[in-house]
Amino acid sequence: MDASQEFAAGTPVAVLTTQPLDRLLDYKAPETGCQTGDFVEVPLGPRRVLGVVWGPGQGDFDPAKLRPVNRVLDAAPMREELRIFLEKCSAYTLTPMPAMLRLATRAPGLGDPPSMRKIYRLGDAEPSRMTDARTRVLEVLRDHGGLAFTLGELAEMAAVGTSVVKGLVKQGAVREEDSPRDLPFPRLDPGRPGKALTEDQSAAATQLQEAVASGQYGTTLLRGITGSGKTEVYLEAVAACLERGRQALVLLPEIALTAEFLSRVEARFGARPAEWHSGATMTERRRIWRMVGEGGAQLVVGARSALFLPFRDLGLIVVDEEHDTAYKQEEGVLYNARDMAVLRASICAAQVVLASATPSLESWTNAQAGKYRKIELNSRFGPSILPQMQSLDMREAKLPAGRWISPALAEAVEARVAKGEQALLFLNRRGYAPVTLCRACGSQIACPHCDARMVEHRFLKRLMCHQCGETMPIPKACPECGVEDRLAPVGPGVERVAEEAAALFPEARQAVLSSDLFGSARALKAEIERIAEGGAEIIIGTQLVAKGHNFPLLTLVGVIDADLGLQGSDLRAAERTFQLMRQVAGRAGRSERAGLALLQTYQPEHPVIRAILAGDEDGFWRAEAGERQAAGVPPFGRMAGIILSGTDTAQVFDLGNALARNTGPLSAIGATVFGPAPAPIARIRGRHRVRLLVKAPKGVALQEAISRWIAPVRLKGDLRLAVDIDPQSF
Ligand code: ADP
Ligand code: ZN
Repeated sequence: MDASQEFAAGTPVAVLTTQPLDRLLDYKAPETGCQTGDFVEVPLGPRRVLGVVWGPGQGDFDPAKLRPVNRVLDAAPMREELRIFLEKCSAYTLTPMPAMLRLATRAPGLGDPPSMRKIYRLGDAEPSRMTDARTRVLEVLRDHGGLAFTLGELAEMAAVGTSVVKGLVKQGAVREEDSPRDLPFPRLDPGRPGKALTEDQSAAATQLQEAVASGQYGTTLLRGITGSGKTEVYLEAVAACLERGRQALVLLPEIALTAEFLSRVEARFGARPAEWHSGATMTERRRIWRMVGEGGAQLVVGARSALFLPFRDLGLIVVDEEHDTAYKQEEGVLYNARDMAVLRASICAAQVVLASATPSLESWTNAQAGKYRKIELNSRFGPSILPQMQSLDMREAKLPAGRWISPALAEAVEARVAKGEQALLFLNRRGYAPVTLCRACGSQIACPHCDARMVEHRFLKRLMCHQCGETMPIPKACPECGVEDRLAPVGPGVERVAEEAAALFPEARQAVLSSDLFGSARALKAEIERIAEGGAEIIIGTQLVAKGHNFPLLTLVGVIDADLGLQGSDLRAAERTFQLMRQVAGRAGRSERAGLALLQTYQPEHPVIRAILAGDEDGFWRAEAGERQAAGVPPFGRMAGIILSGTDTAQVFDLGNALARNTGPLSAIGATVFGPAPAPIARIRGRHRVRLLVKAPKGVALQEAISRWIAPVRLKGDLRLAVDIDPQSF
């Protein structure tokens, strides 16, 4: 039940605004009165800002001096469930509430008056009585053919009052329609028959359906190898949810790649779902935001921020590829959508399905501990079988400099291409070469704003910073020493591997799949479809291809550098490499043809490489869990990062050192502080970043201790402080 409260005109109400203030502001309820959750426009100094009525006034101002709320906006009030979610999410991530509200109101036109929700076009009837004003309105509409206008636009163009237009509507001479921005989405029909499921699949689907039918919160880890039918299975859970009249949300990590998924939803339910992502137009976003709140959208497929939509009655959240690092938002509000999905579901009595072929260690551990239900799908659907995995020892290949495809891999590619099959050469590095080195002075070209090298992109004929996106033409002379024509590319990127492949296999048609090579999601989708239909024999790709596409002709995956993710000191490196390699290998042999994955490595004895080859997932997770447990790091301990940034390094470090000297509240809960040290991204867009890492035992009030620890900090100048609970790298 919604504990919302009504406020009569003039009563003090507390309003949460999107402005960066550390408290709620009191206003007087407007003439119309208002209730908790209402979206309102309030005066703030000379401005008018967006806010939400959060509760009764706090009484810290003289009620006589309170300014009134300007108006209540035409939008369904924010439900209690979402208000609580924002508060808990704020407390967990230590993000101020105004920033949370901004996340939840990313729908343009929220403040549009009701008249914007209707459009007007020419009707069929003649008005019974003509006036000059009426004639002008009809003329405007006739002059503009079939176009429709909002009430305000039409009245202004015809130089009449809006009542004239309304009069014509009554007579049928002008038609009033819902604006397309406010049209409900086509009904999905969960009653349509789905695919005939295998015995395993239907057992899994039944369990999920029962969970959904419980009407209670619960989380299930749905683990199944690629191609085992996880999607088919969770679509049945979606069906069960829609049948109960509740809404469902499917989160996907890489929204550009949902074309195939949307078609599958359409095949199953007879219509397409609402699609929420950063590339959506303003009109689409506004329509989804409204329809989700009014129940005109049953299913939303979206990127992580869809989690903050104002659902009317959310009954199921699916987090597909739950291990994917794209679920962690690294700018602004630092949150992990997977974890916040579990939080939101627990508030609105919804079920969560975490689907993955290679679950995160966090979810695996929760399932082992019985906190999550665990369902496994262990065989691929149909005749397809898992690919064989082999390593290729690069020490034996003895390749000359500037070559990355070993003779053994080249031979395997040749053999597949000769049979009319496809081969994928995988390298998780965009561009041509990661380093551009001056052979005269030995310096490397670096980004002027970031602690990052400029990466050569030969197709674009430019150098690009992968941190901030800065690009520059490839210079003729070294920017350090000025000597000309001595700049040389060092190391491989996908474009360079493509060049090598073109020389090795001149007869074969090639396609390069890398996110920077496509201007739009549509262009990328078209290219993927072309390749799937056999438009190329050799695919050279980054991790873009590791996710979800089905290339039926693909039978060989060659991993150019299986060691790439293992370098560096990040404790999560092993987990990531394991997941990525398993996933890429899963691309091979998805239909009737047997697949083979070849991993080029300089360290075939490395435990992670051996675990990948052995396909011993549980063994790998157990070993990994053991190491993390010994180190006391997540998921067996808690971690948090405090990221300090500013343009002056010395100031940033001074602040870091001051914090590190004064860790009272943290020591009190048994937590340790490391650093300050340069953050994983040490400089970005000209700002220096240092990080303090906090390591704490499980089960302590970490957020509360951190709040007390950083409370005395006063940020001078352009210094900034951000808290990163559960950082991705540690
Ligand atoms: P996952 O999500 O585990 O990778 P999918 O659900 O995508 O697996 O299934 C892999 C492929 O097999 C898809 O093309 C899917 O349509 C097909 N498939 C899976 N289960 C069935 C089934 N029971 N009947 C028909 N096709 C199926
Ligand atoms: Zn940069």
